[in-house]
Amino acid sequence: MKVAIMGAGVIGVTTAYYLAREGVQVTVIDRQDGPGLETSFANAGQLSPGYATPWAAPGIPLKALKWLLQRHAPLSIRPDGSLFQLQWLWSMWRNCSPARYAVNKERMLRLASFSRECLIDLRRDIGNHYEGRQAGTLQVFRTHAQLQAARRDVEILDRLGIEHQLLPPEALHSIEPALAVHANALTGGLRLPLDETGDCQMFVRDLAARCKSLGVRFLFGREILSLEREAQRVRHLRLRSVATPSIEERIESDHVVMALGSYSRGLASQLGLSLPVYPLKGYSLTVPISNKSAAPQSTVMDETYKVAVTRFDQRIRVGGMAEVAGYDLRLNASRRATLEKVLHELFPGAGSAGEALFWTGLRPMTPDSTPIVGGTDIPNLWLNTGHGTLGWTMACGSARLLSEMIRGKKTSIRTEGLSLSRYRDSNGAIRPRPWQAAPAH
Ligand SMILES: Cc1cc2nc3c(=O)[nH]c(=O)nc-3n(C[C@H](O)[C@H](O)[C@H](O)COP(=O)(O)OP(=O)(O)OC[C@H]3O[C@@H](n4cnc5c(N)ncnc54)[C@H](O)[C@@H]3O)c2cc1C
Repeated sequence: MKVAIMGAGVIGVTTAYYLAREGVQVTVIDRQDGPGLETSFANAGQLSPGYATPWAAPGIPLKALKWLLQRHAPLSIRPDGSLFQLQWLWSMWRNCSPARYAVNKERMLRLASFSRECLIDLRRDIGNHYEGRQAGTLQVFRTHAQLQAARRDVEILDRLGIEHQLLPPEALHSIEPALAVHANALTGGLRLPLDETGDCQMFVRDLAARCKSLGVRFLFGREILSLEREAQRVRHLRLRSVATPSIEERIESDHVVMALGSYSRGLASQLGLSLPVYPLKGYSLTVPISNKSAAPQSTVMDETYKVAVTRFDQRIRVGGMAEVAGYDLRLNASRRATLEKVLHELFPGAGSAGEALFWTGLRPMTPDSTPIVGGTDIPNLWLNTGHGTLGWTMACGSARLLSEMIRGKKTSIRTEGLSLSRYRDSNGAIRPRPWQAAPAH
């Protein structure tokens, strides 16, 4: 069986691995010169099933209105001139009800927990290197209201059987000795001891090398221009060389997987599929450590700014924030100021921000925060996209699941609610208008 995978981000490369290790002939195509060079390049570094929570949550619409007026707010919205932006926001708003939140949370957790198991197996099987740490994550609160809200989250974690510890401020030092608890008057923290951390792009690079040894062919520097249909199937992918645009080629395969992250929607629309995947912009700062004893041990997530500070071997990654602003990759200096502020307040003197790498990426976000993993009405076209805020966390599970589906095997977990069919209307057609999609099946 031959499978072509569109996209060599963390989702495309993990999919390639789980197919190739079962003997499938895999070709991966990407416009970049190597793997993991777009959204998977410099994310916040959390592998956090315990934090797998939909952004569309009760109370978010009100919070969003307040954030629009704040300087260091975690969310901002700028019209991008498209109707799709308004449709997507409307659909996200509809997913903020308690009932929708519960459905979406269960789906995300199902995938994220499975993914965690898959990652542990993968590490054992191939021993990949990505500056990984298995020291848990810590969410810290600056107000009593945040601590109260965390008590409600704890009830959900209890119900779902996810290990956690709600900690008073005086206990935070035992987890993160360098954390400036008193200077910031922190009110407490929520620790998720089974969460992990690491550098996603290193992980992708390392896994791509492993894929090559399993026979996976990587075609880098190729822009995918179109998917050509014959009868009811995708027959060819038409590619163009990025370096020499006059050179075009066609790739033929039995199955095609779309793992193009935030760019999935454009190519899918050529086939009449409407994917509700919006580019949700985020930022990160990667800072060389200048004083190890002042640096974090793992990830500390500042709930006030929704910014995560993650320790790698010799670097700290500070990442977060969300801008609903279309395909805009400009670096906004005020976002950098927020990231620097959080690092300085939580871990003063840990790193030299002057030497930092400032980066932005577009999270492929669905309005219900759940990825789209599964088949389509076109029998040989498969989707693995829309992983939003936690793409690395859910990558191995999504990839293994999709590999099982493509090979016609019994799936390791339930697939209900994960495919594009959750946007299907009562006549059985995939809805052309994603803002209508907030089904409860
Ligand atoms: C600031 C920030 C912090 C984050 N923090 C975390 C975190 O801590 N933990 C976590 O789990 N997740 C996190 N995420 C989310 C995670 O990074 C993403 O969900 C994940 O990287 C998406 O992977 P992907 O493979 O779908 O997309 P990408 O990595 O973007 O891969 C898609 C690939 O498709 C290629 N492509 C697109 N169009 C074409 C075309 N026409 N032709 C050829 N190639 C094409 C691109 O070059 C790209 O390589 C964060 C994201 C951001 C922005």
